[in-house]
Amino acid sequence: MSEHHYCEVADLAEARSELDEIRHHLHKHPELSYEEADTSRFVADKLESWGYDVTRRVGGHGVVAALKAGTSTRTVGVRADMDALPIQELTGLDYASIHAGKMHACGHDGHTTVLLGAARQLAKTRNFDGTVHLIFQPAEEAGSDSGAQRMIADGLFERFPCEAIFGLHNHPGVPIGTFGFRAGPLMAACDTVKLRVHGKGGHAARPHLAVDPVLVGSSIVMALQSVVSRNVDPNEAAVVTVGAFRSGHAPNVIPEDAVLELSVRSFSPEVRATLEARIRALVQAQAQSYGATVDIEFIRGYPVLINSEAETEFARQVAEELVGPEHVIAPFPPIAGSEDFAYYLQQRPGCFVRLGNGEGRPMLHNARYDFNDENLTIGAAFWTRLVERFLSKERA
Ligand SMILES: [Zn+2]
Ligand SMILES: [Zn+2]
Repeated sequence: MSEHHYCEVADLAEARSELDEIRHHLHKHPELSYEEADTSRFVADKLESWGYDVTRRVGGHGVVAALKAGTSTRTVGVRADMDALPIQELTGLDYASIHAGKMHACGHDGHTTVLLGAARQLAKTRNFDGTVHLIFQPAEEAGSDSGAQRMIADGLFERFPCEAIFGLHNHPGVPIGTFGFRAGPLMAACDTVKLRVHGKGGHAARPHLAVDPVLVGSSIVMALQSVVSRNVDPNEAAVVTVGAFRSGHAPNVIPEDAVLELSVRSFSPEVRATLEARIRALVQAQAQSYGATVDIEFIRGYPVLINSEAETEFARQVAEELVGPEHVIAPFPPIAGSEDFAYYLQQRPGCFVRLGNGEGRPMLHNARYDFNDENLTIGAAFWTRLVERFLSKERA
């Protein structure tokens, strides 16, 4: 049997100070969705300096870097997200954001640096046979018309073939350097519903001459509680939350209308369709029964993120080899958050991986959150080894 060396975490040790520097630079200069011009240029310049064939402006500020080694026609894609959030940072770090009201509070600075670390290592060792496409994606936080959708629409997979695609997200609350894997649905579909109930305003003392939108709205809120409890299979998970209900200004006035805003989450396309159908029917019926009318705006967010079986098992094996089974959680519990990596997984098999950001630390989208730099070399070694194993010289 031939002895084949795949990347170990220790191989990245000499890169650690450079990766810290890159991550802190990105953290200090966050850019919101669709505005990642400087981040994109910084990333592309680094990749070019390491010998990559770099394509800029893919689906907006997206960057794709290609590296070919050997003669195989095999391909693989790895993706990192680059955008920040509209949050005023409260970490007090010496590399805290210098852009008021903007912050890397979801760790995309870390994800980008981890993939850059792998890029640097792969270019140095070229210990694979095939083509790797490193995908640096903008606008993950957009909620709709996101970076993944725009890069795919810009011909991502036709221009940069990927037999499979992989991505990762840090996960506060799980120990640093611990990887999480789940085949099948990992993250929820997240839809938003906006309702405007049109009643008939009037005097509080003469309610029989008005149509009270507060009462209609209240009735809608109560009726919606039956969707998850009575229409969804108890073995499936779903959420219908009324997060906003606005109407009226004075105790002696029946208002003209009421606005309700819902967050709707599900883990399968079938449940997602059921939720939409039931919400529409219940809302219409409630309004009608009071003589009111209602506008329903159902805004589809990211779909359910579904990891493919074989690629998830493959990625799990890579992590187990790298950090040992004691630092791997499989199956990882489903997450009610959503993620636009789901769109890539509708096109190609692959796996979205969770990587522990440490216990007892601020959660994602929190003003005191920070990506854990201990994960830079661990994550970079993981991507390097995953590419080396996927495009293994021995498999060719
Ligand atoms: Zn986020
Ligand atoms: Zn994120």
